[in-house]
Amino acid sequence: MNTAIVMEIQRYCIHDGPGIRTTVFLKGCHMKCSWCHNPESQSKEPEMMFFESSCIYCRQCETICERGAHYFTDENHKVKVELCKNCRKQELCQEICCTKSMKLCGKRVTVEEVTREVMRDRDCYGGDGGVTFSGGEPLVQYKYLQEIMKCCKEEGISVCLDTTLNVDWDIVESIIPYVDVYLIDIKCLDDKQHIALTGVSNRNLLENIKRLSDIGARMIIRMPIIESINDSEKEIKDRRIFLQDIRGVERIDMIPVSNYGSAKYKALGKIIPQFNNKTDLNMLVDRAKIRFEES
Ligand code: SF4
Ligand code: SF4
Repeated sequence: MNTAIVMEIQRYCIHDGPGIRTTVFLKGCHMKCSWCHNPESQSKEPEMMFFESSCIYCRQCETICERGAHYFTDENHKVKVELCKNCRKQELCQEICCTKSMKLCGKRVTVEEVTREVMRDRDCYGGDGGVTFSGGEPLVQYKYLQEIMKCCKEEGISVCLDTTLNVDWDIVESIIPYVDVYLIDIKCLDDKQHIALTGVSNRNLLENIKRLSDIGARMIIRMPIIESINDSEKEIKDRRIFLQDIRGVERIDMIPVSNYGSAKYKALGKIIPQFNNKTDLNMLVDRAKIRFEES
């Protein structure tokens, strides 16, 4: 039976494609975007997260831990979550914590289980809505994705794919029959900068957008904006020039990078990135839009 590691399933989403949608977040990503809003999505494996702010210091979690991951003082509780990798007690650890301060992110689920979840809200989807597969990068688990998308299409559910497109074309090609709309991030056209920010080249992304354009795919383009990093006049102008030859783009959204994911970085024991910290985010996006329109 085909299974995948799913991070979360969110219902009634209105920002993940047209209409009202159920969004399925799959774990795993080929990229390491420095500002990632979902750092818990990057690893393909289930991960423990510890949210100290809700901990009531009952020490129940410590009683079952065989790896010495907990450290208590009178006022603090620290967890070395790096010790939790592949721990056989992850689920128990989550269950024993009554405040949900210990959270297991990622669960192996079957195609049938996810399809059932998606079908629960089919009456709410209306003409435009449906399911969106997001991540991480859902194409990391593309064989599973093919299967579940096929099931959704057979049930008459519209399918959106939120993707970095940072994969070979034959992988994209394998899911084309099942996708109605693609949500695609363009993070940076300058490839050196793209590599510095995400760890990979943008070559696959740009080539795959052109190929999707050639086959008349529907696309919504999203651009994360970071002050003084990827919002220069030249960078924004280059994006407009690239997109002017691309067909099928229904909308372009500029999204300011924020500190939205800070608590999750902390819960994973990772360093919290600092982008747009002192920036007026509305001003940032307005300026990028003007640069795009007037370039
Ligand atoms: S997941 Fe395992 S190693 Fe981590 S705190 Fe829980 S019992 Fe300890
Ligand atoms: S079980 Fe939960 S609330 Fe209790 S000490 Fe552990 S993390 Fe904190």
